[in-house]
Amino acid sequence: MKFEEAVIEILPRSKNVKSFRFKRPDDFDFKAGQYIIVTINVAEKKTSKPFSLSSSPTEEDHIEFTKKLTGHEYSNALDSMSVGDTASISGPYGKMTFEGEYDRIVLLSGGIGITPMRSICKYCTDMKLDTDVVMICSDRTEDDMVFWKELQDMMHENRNLLVFQTLTRASEGWKGSRERINANIIEDQVPDYRTRRFFVCGPPRMVESMLEMLSQIGVPDENIKKESITGY
Ligand SMILES: Cc1cc2nc3c(=O)[nH]c(=O)nc-3n(C[C@H](O)[C@H](O)[C@H](O)COP(=O)(O)OP(=O)(O)OC[C@H]3O[C@@H](n4cnc5c(N)ncnc54)[C@H](O)[C@@H]3O)c2cc1C
Repeated sequence: MKFEEAVIEILPRSKNVKSFRFKRPDDFDFKAGQYIIVTINVAEKKTSKPFSLSSSPTEEDHIEFTKKLTGHEYSNALDSMSVGDTASISGPYGKMTFEGEYDRIVLLSGGIGITPMRSICKYCTDMKLDTDVVMICSDRTEDDMVFWKELQDMMHENRNLLVFQTLTRASEGWKGSRERINANIIEDQVPDYRTRRFFVCGPPRMVESMLEMLSQIGVPDENIKKESITGY
């Protein structure tokens, strides 16, 4: 499906991450974990980029994607948009989806790869699914964390959701994990990992290293769905 919609809200999420919300057309249907392609004018040329939907299919009045602001051309053009400006959107695309088909899942995210995971967590929470969800997010610093407060609130509402955060370059005050996502973290946080379904999303190198690590600890390929956030 292809449509043109105006921005209805822009939400700062961290120092350099913003969410862009658009009215959701009545007939726009998608699954948690999917992405859209967003076309805007960049230096008077129509330019398209893929973005995971950070909103959930249960959020009926809007769709949202969440962009890391990189200072590059497309990013700057997007960041200069105001409420009322329009973008062309097509989709949904992507196979890293969740509709409640597994009863125990693990979500591994690196950086802005958290966007489809927020959609999946929100979907499970709103649908009151029994699915047991362990989400493990890796970022560099406290300033890079997005959706943290909202995920904490979701954990209160959804007893089946556990969110674990690791920060590889945290400030001195950080009391949590400082390691990249690794086999020890998986074994500690998800003792039944061998029989769970995994979802992995992040930059290509993070996704590759997660696949290698999961293979080493005996998670079968067919139990893993993945999406690489390419394009930086
Ligand atoms: C399935 C999928 C889902 C994604 N989901 C998300 C998401 O949820 N959130 C998100 O933030 N991103 C997401 N991305 C990545 C997104 O599509 C963009 O590629 C990314 O955000 C980089 O955008 P940009 O604004 O920096 O792009 P650009 O401005 O096009 O810059 C991209 C690259 O081009 C280079 N470049 C740009 N301008 C110049 C120039 N004038 N001269 C030389 N080099 C230049 C930059 O160095 C950079 O390496 C996703 C990608 C995929 C494939």
